[in-house]
Amino acid sequence: MQDYIVKSTVYDGMVRAYAAITTEMVEEARRKQDTWATASAAMGRTLTITSMMGAMLKGEDTITVKVEGDGPLGAVIADGNAKGTVRGYVINPHVDFPLNAKGKLDVRRAVGNEGTVSVVKDLGLKDYFTGQVPIVSGEISEDFTYYFATSEQIPSAVGAGVLVNPDHSVLAAGGFIIQLMPGADDVLAKRLEQRIEQFPQISALIQEGNNPEQILERLFGDEKINMHEKMPVRFACKCSKERMENAIKGLGKEEIEQMIVEDHGAEATCHFCNEVYHLTEAELRALKEEKM
Ligand code: ZN
Repeated sequence: MQDYIVKSTVYDGMVRAYAAITTEMVEEARRKQDTWATASAAMGRTLTITSMMGAMLKGEDTITVKVEGDGPLGAVIADGNAKGTVRGYVINPHVDFPLNAKGKLDVRRAVGNEGTVSVVKDLGLKDYFTGQVPIVSGEISEDFTYYFATSEQIPSAVGAGVLVNPDHSVLAAGGFIIQLMPGADDVLAKRLEQRIEQFPQISALIQEGNNPEQILERLFGDEKINMHEKMPVRFACKCSKERMENAIKGLGKEEIEQMIVEDHGAEATCHFCNEVYHLTEAELRALKEEKM
């Protein structure tokens, strides 16, 4: 099944609900970074949530998400946009633990339960939104539920899950974000809370072959769901040799000279996709000339 997000509203527009299948996207990220199972789950949950938060943006807006806990993973960094492309990485990809007491990947142990979740939205024309909250769980979904409630003042329920195969490849990944819009009353909030409490594991539903529309139907039962848009999502990096050159051009002439004299070139690896870019001594000289 191809990865996509469905955007919908329910309860006469009082609730906004997004559901996503992201199995291919998370598998692509895993292949590029060689993440081990628990690290794949942490990265996959973060990528899935970032893809849905990206889908809430408009035009050229972008979002960067960072989950920085005190666990062995280091941090999970992801960015996304309104066009359905997402990328992300973890500082230490080779993190794996035995399943937790619930038989699930022990994401909390990998992430840690102290630290911060931060979100930066670049809304164009130098307009930025930034929000930061402490990690309250380390399981990531709960941390974003807390983030939305605290930083954006939107009561929300966030779910994201990843299942991995014994060979570490990704078997199923996806998630949902449900948000109460202004005007929704406490009765509706309570009703939703009960539905979500009884909701099965999202990753298991995806493994069973449910698509985002079916996940929304499972979430809302007999309620009328207005499906507004179906948006494909994928992992894609925006790095290039030109971007590396621009970064080097931003350095001082002395620093570039140092690279020429000491290293006879420059090499950079993209954190997101592990692509390696090389610049020769001659190319560095040309960049230095451009700065004159
Ligand atoms: Zn890259």
